[in-house]
Amino acid sequence: MENSLAALSAPLLAWYRASARALPWRQTRDPYRIWVSEIMLQQTRVAAVLGYYARFLAAFPSVEALAAAPEDALMKQWEGLGYYSRARNLQAAAKRIVAAGGVFPGDYEGLLALPGIGDYTAGAIASAAFGLRVPAVDGNVLRVMTRLTDCHDNIGDPAAKRAIRAAVAAILPEQPADLRQFNQALMELGAVICGPGGPPKCEICPVKTLCLGHARKTAENLPVKTAKKTRKMQEKTIFLLEKGGKIALRKRSDSGLLASLWEFPNVEGALDEENAPAAVAAWGLHAKCWRKKLTAKHIFTHVEWHMTGYSLEVSGAGPADFLWVDAAGLSRCAVPSAFAKYYAEAQTLLAAETAPAQGETT
Ligand code: SF4
Repeated sequence: MENSLAALSAPLLAWYRASARALPWRQTRDPYRIWVSEIMLQQTRVAAVLGYYARFLAAFPSVEALAAAPEDALMKQWEGLGYYSRARNLQAAAKRIVAAGGVFPGDYEGLLALPGIGDYTAGAIASAAFGLRVPAVDGNVLRVMTRLTDCHDNIGDPAAKRAIRAAVAAILPEQPADLRQFNQALMELGAVICGPGGPPKCEICPVKTLCLGHARKTAENLPVKTAKKTRKMQEKTIFLLEKGGKIALRKRSDSGLLASLWEFPNVEGALDEENAPAAVAAWGLHAKCWRKKLTAKHIFTHVEWHMTGYSLEVSGAGPADFLWVDAAGLSRCAVPSAFAKYYAEAQTLLAAETAPAQGETT
């Protein structure tokens, strides 16, 4: 990599200490709390994480509490954050830590060996919690570093990432107090000044005099990365089946997308009004009153769901794996945000029911 980055640390840390956002996970050295924040922040904005973080730690205040949590309680805390495998990996790692005596691994390799912890997360925990001289290179840091050094390598290439990681490792400060904050400061710069999606705010950047991308006017076009693969489109038909003041849910398969979470019964394909009744009949249910059609879309990383939905009143027992829930039962089940529109409609439907809650039946 070009450019001498040796002078970066002093102005970066001075800026960070004066201006960084006071985020709760920066006020602690507890590896458990730092770890939970790092996992939540993967693929998720800080503003969206704050509330979840506080509630999660209130529900599971220690690694032991997380290890012992029932799956449904864990998923309920994660409901709406998406990428649910993160929560499962958190718990799998917590169980492993507890089984090994409850002591959090205090070294980079030990952290890296835990489920759900990669290079970046291990580096972030090792430096922030244990003061180890390890880089933490996330998307923010990749962007800042390529701009600072006017690097045009494709950051989708593992070799380019390794080179950037080595460049950060070479400029980590010696002092423990500085070291704990350096990785955070680089990420903060990438989050609030040298951000994605739009020109960097070079005019207020604390390190602009050191920045080759700024001097050469290339920063806005960096980093270079290969275009993302186009997402697969899937059509689904969702059914809000209401019977006696209760709505049908069923559990998703225990592997794959949104594994083991609750969903409204659905079938593949976009069924029109003519064909939807056959799907309901195939569950052994009789459609008494079709109420509403509701369409929705949800975008995952690799797939888009295009959903056609029907709200209707039914009679009949239905399949054994359907769980018929009232409003209280619905609130206890973790239903992913992909179904948010149908969840809101189900809440409205159930709130309108005047019959007293009878509890759940299957
Ligand atoms: Fe990013 Fe501009 Fe600062 Fe360079 S000067 S690090 S491009 S904000």
